[in-house]
Amino acid sequence: MTQRLVIANWKMNGDLAFVEALASSLPSLANVQTVIAPPAVYALRLAELAQEVFKVGLQDVGRHESGAHTGEVSAAMARDLGASVVLVGHSERRSEHAEDDAAVAAKCEQITAAELMPVICVGETLAERESGKAIDRVRAQVMAQKQCLRNAKEVAIAYEPIWAIGTGKSATATEAVQMHQAIRGALEEVAPLAAPEIRILYGGSVNAENAPELFAYSDIQGVLVGGASLDTEQFAAIIRAAAN
Ligand code: PEP
Repeated sequence: MTQRLVIANWKMNGDLAFVEALASSLPSLANVQTVIAPPAVYALRLAELAQEVFKVGLQDVGRHESGAHTGEVSAAMARDLGASVVLVGHSERRSEHAEDDAAVAAKCEQITAAELMPVICVGETLAERESGKAIDRVRAQVMAQKQCLRNAKEVAIAYEPIWAIGTGKSATATEAVQMHQAIRGALEEVAPLAAPEIRILYGGSVNAENAPELFAYSDIQGVLVGGASLDTEQFAAIIRAAAN
């Protein structure tokens, strides 16, 4: 777990011109691993431009290996495109596509079978936080991925409180650290051999301003960045904060 992980999730944003512009504008720092997850159609071009500066990720893959699943992209196809990382279980997938923990587990299995690195996204709603159920909710989401956590050669968890995603209201570093410690405890219970190597990232309104405070804590081993990753200068500043 030597390198911090900084992942850009472009969601359904960006175009080919942005792909070309981004590729030449990111810093390459020895102790930070940067991953860019564009819409899948741009992954191939991004991989061609990546050199050693960043890795390419996908935001999702299908839960099946192949077959009659119109519109889906498989994990093997992701690898073909040059991706080495795949987000799975993002809250927007869980809410807009009714993906439950079983679907996330099936996708995770496909991702690890293709020898890619899953980044499993977990997080509680505002109602769950306000009713004191956040830790139980997130621990349950982590534990539901027991097989994947045990089998993956490399895997990371992204803690993304749903109330902090795209709202401009990040969790405080204290809230994030408390949850990261709970997640670490869950990992040690379900995947004791793998746990020490699993990085836990924070996501939810991370920007160039709040990144240095988050990175002041060793429990935060990386960040997943949505909106701020669409601004190349701001995203570069987040990468530099991760290096300090
Ligand atoms: C995300 O969607 O993964 C995310 C963290 O978005 P934002 O940074 O915009 O809150």
